[in-house]
Amino acid sequence: MQLDNIAQAIDKRLSFAADLFAELEAQTKDGDGVTRPAWSEADQRAATLVADTAHALDLEAEYDNAGNVYVTLPGQDRSAPSLLTGSHLDSVPKGGNFDGYAGVVAGLTALAAFRDLGVTPACDIRTVGLRGEESVWYGIAYIGSRLAVGSLDTSEIDRLRRGDTGRTLSAHMEDLKLDVAALHDETEPYITPENTKGFLELHIEQGPVLVDRALSVAIPTVIRGNVRFPFARCYGEYAHSAAVPRELRRDALLAVVELVGALDRMWQDYEANNVPDTVFTVGQLYTDAEQHAMTKVPGECAFSLNFGGTTEAFLDEVRSRTMAYAAEIGDRRNVEFQLGECVGSNPTLLDAALCDGLLAQAGALGIPTHTMATVGHDASIFARAGIPAAMVLVRNQHGSHNAAEAMEMADFGLGVKTLAAMLLNLA
Ligand SMILES: [Zn+2]
Repeated sequence: MQLDNIAQAIDKRLSFAADLFAELEAQTKDGDGVTRPAWSEADQRAATLVADTAHALDLEAEYDNAGNVYVTLPGQDRSAPSLLTGSHLDSVPKGGNFDGYAGVVAGLTALAAFRDLGVTPACDIRTVGLRGEESVWYGIAYIGSRLAVGSLDTSEIDRLRRGDTGRTLSAHMEDLKLDVAALHDETEPYITPENTKGFLELHIEQGPVLVDRALSVAIPTVIRGNVRFPFARCYGEYAHSAAVPRELRRDALLAVVELVGALDRMWQDYEANNVPDTVFTVGQLYTDAEQHAMTKVPGECAFSLNFGGTTEAFLDEVRSRTMAYAAEIGDRRNVEFQLGECVGSNPTLLDAALCDGLLAQAGALGIPTHTMATVGHDASIFARAGIPAAMVLVRNQHGSHNAAEAMEMADFGLGVKTLAAMLLNLA
């Protein structure tokens, strides 16, 4: 199959893709944005739209026991391991219409174009619409993909509760007539390295890098891990702001500010020394509203620390350097840092051969690309389950997890061409 033919077939299907975006946006609209809670009527509308679209294209549609929906273009050898693409159907509250859903529409668009071209691939090519990627609903992320690959114990569905309804995930699944008993009884996951030889996820970029670089498409090579101190505290002593000289103060806030400044300089040093793709965020920093006053030396300060990085060695080093800074500053300023629980996740390398393949396909299509690290996505779950995984990021204005997400269909088209060319190459 010539790349030109694939590109033309995708171009002809861009209005089909635009209709799929418009249709689901209309069905799940909430103010300016969309709201598709995981395992709700709204994300079920998305799943139903995916299945209906499959039937209209004469493709197969099937649900796994968790409610993830799969659309299949049958290959010549139905028993050969299949190729999987897709992303998630749920959204954050009043989120954008492209986060997740763009990857599902991309997969459907590629399969529609393959149908138009009369392609019968060597193996099945499947597009999945996953449930429950956003952590906002049940407190953890990637639930649908983790259930699909068997990396989340099914007993969790009776324990996890949706924040706004207070009801369990299994109760919400039963509302949708999903077979919860069958999910509990599964002896083997639906998706395994034996039945699936690769997972390719197209997703909008949720940051500003592609906009800044005036590029349409990026191929990420790694999903960042993180080290987080969500509930850090510094304790000093409340005192009169005018009566106490500096050397006798135990100012909790200035100690935290010094620590944060040291960590910011550490971050800049890492960047300057070519440790790429590190991030550092202090999302919370506050004194006690019941106690604080302009005329009091702060006796307590609460804060959070959140580092992202692409290697475990970097994250380990950041953790120990943070604790060393806190100990030194605490001693010198006569305050006590209690950094509290340290949580985090390991970085996930995307499959190098698939990443190189995507870069090569984009190059052959004349699409300039950029390589970078990206944030957590379902692709990491497949990668950790032993299924080679890679991603295509598409430029998107105004960030993500908000109603102003704005992906251009022309950029989407370039992303889908890269994805489709790679799928056919692998199949
Ligand atoms: Zn997403």
